[in-house]
Amino acid sequence: MSNPIDRRGFLVRAAGVSSSLALPAGAGAVARAVVRSSAAGPPIRGQVIKRGASGFPDAAHVYNTRFDYVLPSWVARPLDAADVRTAVRWGVAQGVPLRARSGGHSYAGYSTLSGGMVLDLRNLRSVNVDLRARTATVGAGAQLIDVYAALAARGVTIPAGSCPSVGIAGHALGGGMGLAGRQFGLTADNLLSAQIVTADGRLLTVSARQNPDLYWALRGGGGGNFGVVTSFTFRVHAVPRTVAWFILSWPASRGADALAAWQAWAPHARNQLTSIFHLNSAGARPAEVTGQYFGPARDLGGLLAPLTAVGQASVRTGDLGYLQAQLFWAGCSTISFTACHTTGTRPGGTLPRESFQAKSDYVANPLPASARQALVQAAAARGQMSGSGAILFDSYGGAINQIAPAATAFVHRKVLFCIQYLTYNGGGSWLQSIHNRMRPYVTGGAYFNYTDPGLSGWQTAYYGSNYRRLLQIRRAVDPHHYFNFPQAIGR
Ligand SMILES: Cc1cc2nc3c(=O)[nH]c(=O)nc-3n(C[C@H](O)[C@H](O)[C@H](O)COP(=O)(O)OP(=O)(O)OC[C@H]3O[C@@H](n4cnc5c(N)ncnc54)[C@H](O)[C@@H]3O)c2cc1C
Repeated sequence: MSNPIDRRGFLVRAAGVSSSLALPAGAGAVARAVVRSSAAGPPIRGQVIKRGASGFPDAAHVYNTRFDYVLPSWVARPLDAADVRTAVRWGVAQGVPLRARSGGHSYAGYSTLSGGMVLDLRNLRSVNVDLRARTATVGAGAQLIDVYAALAARGVTIPAGSCPSVGIAGHALGGGMGLAGRQFGLTADNLLSAQIVTADGRLLTVSARQNPDLYWALRGGGGGNFGVVTSFTFRVHAVPRTVAWFILSWPASRGADALAAWQAWAPHARNQLTSIFHLNSAGARPAEVTGQYFGPARDLGGLLAPLTAVGQASVRTGDLGYLQAQLFWAGCSTISFTACHTTGTRPGGTLPRESFQAKSDYVANPLPASARQALVQAAAARGQMSGSGAILFDSYGGAINQIAPAATAFVHRKVLFCIQYLTYNGGGSWLQSIHNRMRPYVTGGAYFNYTDPGLSGWQTAYYGSNYRRLLQIRRAVDPHHYFNFPQAIGR
């Protein structure tokens, strides 16, 4: 039997695409009526900002300025889970496509769309800690720096990335790797339960006991699939009074040797220590390691010895309170906490938006000298062009690799590290070229959260052998594939 929702959705989309499409007799009038009846946007209690209203461009834009030309018809800001249900039900009934937005940091701009409705979850950002249960329940629109701050105030944390304004939802649903990763795992690995509004308009609790398939899928299956998560409950970890930070750097001429030393050391270091190797196209530190250690800086002399043995290393270390350390990695040590938010996303936020694109790889066997040289040369070559770039290496191992590839949707558990090729303000051909050059040395996997809209075979690259199960779950939860985007499961 044909589904009336699908048919209305088709008519609205067809009417939006071209009036010259061969629609059935009378369909044009039906489509116009549907568009008219939906013109006010979803009937939620929260704010609905319509295209053309004052403030609309700021409300519509995501973090990556490359997508400023993509404009939805409405940006809806629900107040709570009930409002999210209303918006989803309305979107399904009207055939209006929807994209959820948490922090708006999707590399590919997947939290916006042309026409349709953006569901901006910024009002759902409470963080409630239950110290007795050692859990925290976090609203799906919270930004990472707010999560770190609320948790640190209670002496606990969750592992997550270092960009302050990344949203918890996209981050956790795609994995979530940061400088506590080898100690506590990915953000997704600490998810105990979630509340999600599915395409049938229900609000489901998802955990090991309730809807276990969906619980499996939400831990790495990628934001935008399955429904709109309204809150996450995470396991929290006590943090010491201080943690140690370190930054080592070398001249470009030592970059390949430093990378050799880092890859032999970082994935096998003690779990308390997580680090990132950087090849920067510009600036005073062409080759650099940044890292965090759950212990005192006085231990670092011995722990970092394999790196400092590489000639011409410059070494800086120190101890910081946990929140101060997160502000330091966020680049916010010298600005106020309020300012440490992206402009336009919170009142007083001053961090600028950026224009960037990226690709990623996973590495399971140490890179030979030829590959390391190619990477160092590529970073230097990017420095000769306009714009800038970097090649970043996130160390895996530790708690991340202690989980089996099929135990959650996040499959990349047997690797040494993840490489991210990142370019700002142009550099698309550079990106493709270094990605091509590395094919012989990598697993073929890619990290969903470093989303690459040009990646062919993304299903296998992001999800490997977990894709089949993800597809089955998506078909069961969202049979008409309402929650859809260019790299959605089932596309
Ligand atoms: C500057 C910067 C630094 C970064 N640093 C790191 C890092 O250190 N470690 C790391 O692992 N990653 C990092 N990332 C990548 C980041 O984890 C992803 O871009 C992540 O998806 C962003 O989440 P978001 O909520 O901000 O994005 P959004 O654009 O809001 O959402 C991303 C995707 O999730 C969907 N989504 C959003 N909210 C929901 C919801 N409530 N329910 C269901 N789907 C939803 C969106 O529709 C979209 O498809 C970084 C990104 C940037 C731009």
